[in-house]
Amino acid sequence: MNPHVMVVFGTRPEAIKVAPVVQRLRADPAFDTTVVDTGQHAGLLGPILTAFGVDPDVRLDVAVPGQDLTALATRTMTAVGSVIARRRPDLVLVHGDTSAAAVTALAAHYAHVRVAHLEAGLRSSDLWSPWPEEANRRVIGQLASVHLAPTQRAAEQLLAEGAAPATVHVTGNTVIDALLQTLETSPPPLPGPVQAAVDAGQRIVLVTGHRRESWESGLADTAAGIADTVRDRRDVFVWAPLHPNPIVRAAIEPAFAGLDRVLVDAPLDYPLFCRAMQAAHCIVTDSGGVQEEAPSLGTPVLVTRDTTERPEALEAGASRLIGTDRAVVGAELAALLDDEDRYRSMRRAVNPYGDGRAAERVHDVLRAVLGGPDR
Ligand code: UDP
Repeated sequence: MNPHVMVVFGTRPEAIKVAPVVQRLRADPAFDTTVVDTGQHAGLLGPILTAFGVDPDVRLDVAVPGQDLTALATRTMTAVGSVIARRRPDLVLVHGDTSAAAVTALAAHYAHVRVAHLEAGLRSSDLWSPWPEEANRRVIGQLASVHLAPTQRAAEQLLAEGAAPATVHVTGNTVIDALLQTLETSPPPLPGPVQAAVDAGQRIVLVTGHRRESWESGLADTAAGIADTVRDRRDVFVWAPLHPNPIVRAAIEPAFAGLDRVLVDAPLDYPLFCRAMQAAHCIVTDSGGVQEEAPSLGTPVLVTRDTTERPEALEAGASRLIGTDRAVVGAELAALLDDEDRYRSMRRAVNPYGDGRAAERVHDVLRAVLGGPDR
């Protein structure tokens, strides 16, 4: 019998980051692979899965509008738990730090199934920031018996927490695989207003934001700081593809309402978002994935958070941690737009997150851990 790996995901970043691994596992006849989409970001995942040719074997339906984290976690654990009980995999692979990934790991553990953690070992060292992700990733770290760390630093963190060295593997981040693979295909054109801005010599500031800990005031303050800075700079255009969550839109939209050089957009399909990161002069974001992707493209990132579990990009000089204070966000963006030296040094930084071959290494690790058909 082949070893059976079950890959479980549900959100946009998870789908992007597990897709290269699923491609590899499915291409290997020595593995049986079950792909489970929990349905958490049902509306966002379709185009991503199509772009990567990933067709889930099981589609769950855990999303209920307005449900809180406990309800989401409970629903996910019950639904995924029953798939694990039915299909009896040898190993369940989860990615990152969502609440769904944490309860999936717990469900696997309860079913006596091993857990592999992709993007293991990231820590902000503040349990409450990012919330609830820092807690989720620590929980998964305790349950996993295969830790797939994107960087040496992440691996060292796991070892410092007591993970057995034989269980920790440095693979690079699969998001770089996804990014490079996507950019190899012909990139989609920019939307009309953005292309017109580029043609007019305007610099594009790409803005995204979604983190729960910023829902109360951080998103609105960030947007206000950006608006303060770009209002009088006629050569700057803001492109803000907003997360579909109505809380996010309601927080950000009002600050941009009075600006004329701004496009508040729907979330972009992944290929277009990759094109957007490439075309942008700089990016203002609280996204984890974007902090990893943008350095590969030489696009500087201002991170609107108080902590980050991705210090490698800060140390490489590719990003700056600026928080969400309106005045600070405005001043940091102004400095990046006006100070050529600062801008050039951030552009020159090298990407610490991988070479585009992380999925290959993950595949090798899983082969070694699970053995071949004669294990
Ligand atoms: N992304 C996308 N379209 C968008 C915004 C982001 O495809 O409009 C991609 C982005 O390239 C990255 C991932 O979504 O790979 C990041 O997702 P998000 O910021 O929601 O989550 P995080 O990385 O913070 O967990």
